[in-house]
Amino acid sequence: MKIEEVKSTTKTQRIASHTHVKGLGLNEDGSAIEISHGLCGQEKGREACGIVVDMIKSKKMAGKALLMVGPPGTGKTALALAIAAELGPKVPFCPMVGSEVYSSEVKKTEILMENFRRAIGLRIKETKEVWEGEVTEISPEEVEDPHGGYGKVVSSVIVSLKTTKGQKQLKLDPSIYENIQKEKVAVGDVIYIEATSGAVKRVGRSDAYATEYDLEAEEYVPIPKGDVHKKKEIVQDVTLHDLDVANARPQGGHDFLSLMSQINRPKKTEITEKLRLEINKVVNKYIDHGIAELVPGVLFIDEVHMLDIECFTYLNRALESNLAPIVILATNRGHCQIRGIEMKAPHGIPVDLLDRLLIIRTLPYSLNEIVQILAIRCATEGIEIEEDALAHLASIGTRTSLRFVVQLITPAFVLAGTLGKTKITLEEVNEISTLFFDGLLKREHLVIPMKFMYY
Ligand code: ATP
Repeated sequence: MKIEEVKSTTKTQRIASHTHVKGLGLNEDGSAIEISHGLCGQEKGREACGIVVDMIKSKKMAGKALLMVGPPGTGKTALALAIAAELGPKVPFCPMVGSEVYSSEVKKTEILMENFRRAIGLRIKETKEVWEGEVTEISPEEVEDPHGGYGKVVSSVIVSLKTTKGQKQLKLDPSIYENIQKEKVAVGDVIYIEATSGAVKRVGRSDAYATEYDLEAEEYVPIPKGDVHKKKEIVQDVTLHDLDVANARPQGGHDFLSLMSQINRPKKTEITEKLRLEINKVVNKYIDHGIAELVPGVLFIDEVHMLDIECFTYLNRALESNLAPIVILATNRGHCQIRGIEMKAPHGIPVDLLDRLLIIRTLPYSLNEIVQILAIRCATEGIEIEEDALAHLASIGTRTSLRFVVQLITPAFVLAGTLGKTKITLEEVNEISTLFFDGLLKREHLVIPMKFMYY
């Protein structure tokens, strides 16, 4: 039985509630548009973020970081995501929570390092020579099983292509035949066959070409050099963490192509400091040669007051590195203790790190702003809601938090569905708000001693 690796979805879940955020929504002059790019309100914060984006673009953020301070659900994560979106379409955004660093198995700094590398992208541009053509015939050649088994096995496959230069016949490796079957390539499809260094390397359908396939039998069918139909520029986006994971296995050379080709292969060993240094070396070399381009992304650390002095020291050092992402910290704490030492500081952050931070404040939303945000969210989720229901949901939001009411939308819609309705009405909002509770409300009821409370 094949055991498949199950990918963690925590990171994607964490940004799922922000899919409506497409940018900061600013005018040319940097002023905030009331409702734009999925954002509404929080004008001062958005304008400040716009200036930070300009600083990042003109490379003036090196060694510095951003801190968002404000009550829960005031859009700290949403603004961080909007900054990443403003920086470009393929800029990595890596969200984490301060408490994530505590584990009984992995060192705190190791977890921080991993997240740092998830937030650093690389764009690799390669020019590949490819055959492009419409498949006119696929004929597998069969031979007796050379290993003595019964029956016949495919030894090669002849693919006829109608290219713009005329009809071509290519004799290909049996592993390519497996790929042709897997991808259900049929007569009439347009396919690409990569011919880097005179050997067939990849095959794929036009829409799937680029990253999907990797065929090992490079020497099998050499295509004469120069006799190549087309050059194609292929752009691939990966993060340093992808390269770490892909290469955390014993074999494989350390040139760039073999680093890349390890992606999507299982059987990992541990990612070591030595491996990372080697990867950095190769990456730096290829950046120097202009083959790869660094795409610094955004590392967002929520509840940063949960980090301890060791992590802060590490952060301070990591910000200096030439392979550093844009670091955005967030907290809802005011003056509190720095974890790990008997000392208090603003936001629980040591002063030497505070000195490097630009601080942006986020403020609670007005009723009208909550209405707008909920409307944007409903539209993004494709959910209809009646006006009085929306107004009531928003008024619950003023007493609880925006995050809480955003989360109520889906259960309210599910309830509407079970009642045979296509829209959320006041009835569902009333019912749902008695079924689910907000963390803050509960705290009031339970009379928790002040020192455990958020403010
Ligand atoms: P916490 O402190 O609890 O981490 P937060 O300050 O990071 O909260 P978010 O999670 O960003 O708050 O906001 C809660 C929800 O409201 C999210 O779905 C977010 O996308 C949405 N949201 C927040 N601010 C805005 C805004 N100005 N415009 C549109 N949507 C927003």
